[in-house]
This record gives sequence, structure tokens and C-alpha cells, in this order.
Amino acid sequence: MPGYVIPSIVEHRVSPKGKEIIDKVYKFVNEECIPADAIVEAQMPEDASKRFLNTYPPIIDELKAKAKAAGLWNLFLSEGHYKEGSALTNLEYGICAEIMGTSYIASEAMNCSAPDTGNMEVLAKYGNEAQKREWLKPLLDGQIRSAFVMTERTKASSDARNIDLDMVRDGDSYILNGTKWWSSGAGDPRCKIYLVMGKTDPKNPNPYKQQSVIVVPTGNPGVTVQRALSVYGYDDAPHGHCELIFKNCRVPASNIILGPGRGFEIIQGRLGPGRIHHCMRSIGVAEKALEYLIARINDPDRSTFGVPLASHGVILEWIARSRIEIDAARFLVLNAADMIDKTDAKGAMKQIAMAKISVPSMALTVIDRAVQAHGAAGVCQDFPLAKMWAHMRTLRIADGPDEVHLNQLGRRENQRVKEM
Ligand SMILES: Cc1cc2nc3c(=O)[nH]c(=O)nc-3n(C[C@H](O)[C@H](O)[C@H](O)COP(=O)(O)OP(=O)(O)OC[C@H]3O[C@@H](n4cnc5c(N)ncnc54)[C@H](O)[C@@H]3O)c2cc1C
Repeated sequence: MPGYVIPSIVEHRVSPKGKEIIDKVYKFVNEECIPADAIVEAQMPEDASKRFLNTYPPIIDELKAKAKAAGLWNLFLSEGHYKEGSALTNLEYGICAEIMGTSYIASEAMNCSAPDTGNMEVLAKYGNEAQKREWLKPLLDGQIRSAFVMTERTKASSDARNIDLDMVRDGDSYILNGTKWWSSGAGDPRCKIYLVMGKTDPKNPNPYKQQSVIVVPTGNPGVTVQRALSVYGYDDAPHGHCELIFKNCRVPASNIILGPGRGFEIIQGRLGPGRIHHCMRSIGVAEKALEYLIARINDPDRSTFGVPLASHGVILEWIARSRIEIDAARFLVLNAADMIDKTDAKGAMKQIAMAKISVPSMALTVIDRAVQAHGAAGVCQDFPLAKMWAHMRTLRIADGPDEVHLNQLGRRENQRVKEM
């Protein structure tokens, strides 16, 4: 197996230990996870009524045990930021996440998948000792999973100030009333906590101090998992993206993270590194799509008009353009990761926004070329390209739509140049 080639421009920023972990991740993903991808789906029940809150593929636990034994666990917790961390820098983790992105199951196998990564970062960064003991530890051990519950169907949620699930103090508790949707991971039977954002102080003149984030353990009688939403027809079972109804849901006040009115601080702290994790994995998805494209056009049985598909200039141009676009996007991502290492997520806001905006669109273009090269086979279930495309498309919306980031980036850049 040839191994992962670290781009020479960042090679000096990768430590010997980082290189060793990158090699191990590459081997684990290629030898264990990619072969397991097809098994994951085969082990899920076909019966739609049993795909959520019921079971999960047993192969996941086998992979998790192997990853843990190999020390490939919680790699996302970067050096210096958390005492539970893996001692990788964000840049080194960025390379590992790219490799994980080439497999459907690899991130989860190494306890590095969303939304748990973001939720663990929240608890590690903002949780008190009791909260860390009760929820962070089992998440870090991979014993439970979690969901981040913010978006509301009746509110334009890309502006988080609109979030208004009722959270009213009553003695030692808060009472939650409202509806949430797109709660990713809430369909998984292993999901044991929801991190819920709601309004505790709707009259506060500062709109950034109205919301709070509270931990709601699953199984609370005040919460109903109403339905799972599909992504272009894919149900993403057992993980799921669920609509949740909160009706007089009573939660101990001690479950509030950081304190009442601190919700914005938490979502801002959560989304910085999380946004870049998606970008890192998306580079891997684009690489995989390009691999599929190249394998297909070199299939000796697929010639048109007297020559193999690989001889058509237009298809070679797709390969060339994809190579340039993937490499350019990778540099944006690694630059953002490096900036987080040198400052923090806040200091790297501009670089994170640039990567968040450009990577999903780049990956969509590459996947689309791979679909085209497969002809009709590209849009059906015989290849993973259709599913890759569907998921990649959501990244232009999830964690804030492109336009919100474009607006912010444009405004900052305009200001920067005006002040020069
Ligand atoms: C697969 C998937 C998983 C998700 N997982 C989660 C999850 O786990 N937890 C959770 O809470 N949410 C989750 N979401 C929801 C996601 O975060 C929201 O969909 C997103 O924040 C946008 O909110 P909205 O859908 O309400 O769109 P709206 O806020 O209604 O925006 C609609 C459109 O308006 C445009 N727009 C908005 N603001 C601007 C602007 N400033 N300038 C120009 N145009 C603008 C954009 O084109 C945008 O797409 C998920 C979504 C998807 C698709």
C-alpha cells in the first residue's frame, strides 16, 4: 500500500508522532474501514419501522475495539486545548480526517464523528466537573452518542437569534416546550443526551444573551422523537436527522452548560473547529470520487466510438481539473487548521470561513464528474456516488449556509481593505 503523501508545503509542520499516527490511520481506514462500509448497510434491518431507536450494525463495535487498541481514538481533541486530547495538532488531525473521509464508517470507528465531536468539545471546554463526569467521559469512551438540538422548523435557523424553544425556570428545574428538527444522531439507540438550545431570557435587550444550552438525557418523558427526515431520500439510519417534540419537558437546572444566557458563546465555540472537521473529511470524499472516476474510465470493457473512455480529452480534462481543485481546497483547509493551531478558532475565523464555503462546492463538482463518467450507473445504488453527492450537498446548508459565511467574509474583507 503506497501510503498518504503529506503535501510538501506543510510537511515541516507535521511531527514524527503525527506522521506515525497518519500512517496508522491510513492503514486502518484502508484495511479495516473501507472493506466494512458495505457491511454496515447490510447489517441494518430493511424494515423501515426498525431502522431507528432499535439497533445499529454490530461491525461498528468491532471496528471501535480495533481502533481503540491501536491508539486511534478521539484524535480530534487537539494538542494543548484539552487534557483529554490526542496530542495531534489541528493540522495533523486535518490530514487524519481527510483519510477518514474516504470511508463512510471510519470517523465513527475512531470516535471522531459528528455531532459527538462538537458535543465533546463543548463539554470539555464549557462543562463543569459533574457534567464532564456524567456525559463527557462516556462520550470519550465511545459508550454513548449524542445530538445537538438547535434548528427549528418554523424559524429561519441560520440566524441563531431566532431560536426560541421555551426554557422556563421552575424551582430547581427548567421546563422545555417547543419543536426541533434536523437533530442529527437522535435516531441512534446509543444516543443518550441531547444538547438543546432554547430561550431562557426572551426579553433580554441583548439578543445574544437570550439563549442557553441545556443537556436533556434521552428517555425524558417530555420528549418525543416524532419522525426522521430524509436527505434526498436517504434515511441515514440508525443515526437519523429527527424532529423532536418537547412538551413540558422538565430538566434539572444544573444541566445548563456554562450558565443561563451563555448559549451563543457555546455555539460559536462549538462550530469553529467542527466546521473545519467537515471540510477535512470532504477532501477525502472528493479524493474517493476521483478514484471511482479513474477506475471507471479505465475499465477495459468500457469503450465508446472505438476508443476507451480514458482516451477522450474531455474526460482527461475532468481528471486534471479535479486534481487542481482538490489540491487547492486542501491547502485552504490545512491553512485554516494551521491558523487554529497558531491562534485559536476565533483567530482563524476568516480561514475557516474560506474553507467552509469552498470545499463542499469543490467536492460536489468532483463527485458530479464521477457520476457523469459512470453514466446511469452513477446515479443508482450500485455505486456510492449518489449518496456521496446527497450528503455533500447538505454541507452547503448545515452548520450555516454558504451565503451567511459569504456575507460575513465579504464584510470583513471589505472592512480590512477600506482600513488599509
Ligand atoms: C443533513 C443536515 C444535518 C443537520 N444537522 C443538524 C443538527 O444536528 N442540529 C441542528 O440543530 N441543525 C442541524 N441541521 C440544520 C442546519 O443547521 C440548518 O438547516 C441551517 O442552519 C440553516 O437553517 P434553515 O434550514 O432554517 O435555513 P434558513 O435560515 O431558513 O435559510 C434559508 C436560506 O436563506 C439564505 N440565507 C440565510 N441567511 C442569509 C444571509 N445572511 N444572506 C444571504 N442568504 C441567506 C440561504 O441560502 C439559506 O440556505 C442540519 C441540516 C442538514 C441538512
